[in-house]
Amino acid sequence: MKNIVDFDLEGKKVLLRCDFNVTIKDGKILSDERITASLKTINYLVNHKAKVILLSHLGKVKNKEDMDKNTLFPVYQKLCELLNTNVYFSSATRGSILETKINYLKNGEVLLMENTRYEDFPDKLESKCDKELSKYWASLGDIFINDAFAMTHRKHASNYGIAKYLPHGIGFLIEEELKGLEIVINPQRPFTVVMGGAKVEDKLDIIKGILPKCDYLLLGGGIANSFLNIDHNVGISLKDDGKKEELKELLSIYKDKIVMPVDYKILNEGKVFRRKYNEIEDEDNILDIGDDTISIYKERINESKTIFLNGTMGKYESQKEFENGTKEILTAISNSSAQTVIGGGDAISSKEYFNIKDFNFISTGGGATLEYIATNKLKCFEEE
Ligand code: ADP
Ligand code: MG
Repeated sequence: MKNIVDFDLEGKKVLLRCDFNVTIKDGKILSDERITASLKTINYLVNHKAKVILLSHLGKVKNKEDMDKNTLFPVYQKLCELLNTNVYFSSATRGSILETKINYLKNGEVLLMENTRYEDFPDKLESKCDKELSKYWASLGDIFINDAFAMTHRKHASNYGIAKYLPHGIGFLIEEELKGLEIVINPQRPFTVVMGGAKVEDKLDIIKGILPKCDYLLLGGGIANSFLNIDHNVGISLKDDGKKEELKELLSIYKDKIVMPVDYKILNEGKVFRRKYNEIEDEDNILDIGDDTISIYKERINESKTIFLNGTMGKYESQKEFENGTKEILTAISNSSAQTVIGGGDAISSKEYFNIKDFNFISTGGGATLEYIATNKLKCFEEE
């Protein structure tokens, strides 16, 4: 795969796929981290006198209201503040006005095109990687650089599609992610994966991919509840009911790798209790792992040479009594001598919440990170 530094950029029209998928409320960007993270690649193109055309999606566009809600205009305003060059905006995602704006770009100037997912209404042309749309966008530039790591597990027109029709490479953000994730792609053993959080259904395929590669899978959160639910009462706890048979099979194949909590912290009619795994009652809501589990997990963490953490052990943000599992496991991982990687929006938020530092790599990719670790592949770089 080529890298941005391998190209001769002066005077070239460079299409740069960024990840500007930020949360916008009342026209204001809540966190501009994704925008500032992109600056290194954008500024490199500007400084090397390319004509820079930025593409990004923002949220989902299923109807006209989504278009108003998910405009990239606030991102354009932010870029005007942050970049030291002329920045323009095209509210059209195709057509003569967009083409004219591109043709008027001078070397080192930047144009942001409106949300690529405007092309998803009504026909999902972007998300289904429509061939004509991919070819059209490719026709607007000379070189394509992909720097949107969080989308690399998708084959969309604006990443996979365009790359088919132009000389292409990756930007600094993707390069950094691939380098950081090397730790878990070629792990030193024992390799321990710690998985918690809420999105059980999404994560089941990931678990299946990870189990053959890791030595231990320590479970928490809704994921652990769903496994416990196979043959125990989990009360009113968060779980995925639909996958019982699949989970049962995994548990029997990988019984030596999957490590389940032995005790939990639960909420029952407003009161907090600690219960053993086989003593959960009908009205119990499991919201954290218990102290015995924390000790067992810490032992495994301390034996490991490589650790990957995703999700949280409990609903740490709901009340103090359910912080401990998430906090203690994060602390143990950060203090361990293993090579450590964290991935997942909430995993990252939780380590910030507890102000725990010292991880070897923090991956920003969410689903893309998990899929890469599970499959060793990123769909948007596949040949066909
Ligand atoms: P990530 O973003 O790191 O991939 P998820 O989005 O899957 O993680 O899950 C994080 C969320 O899971 C957090 O908001 C946390 O409160 C919630 N959570 C963790 N354990 C439980 C639980 N036992 N019951 C309900 N919610 C939980
Ligand atoms: Mg999350």
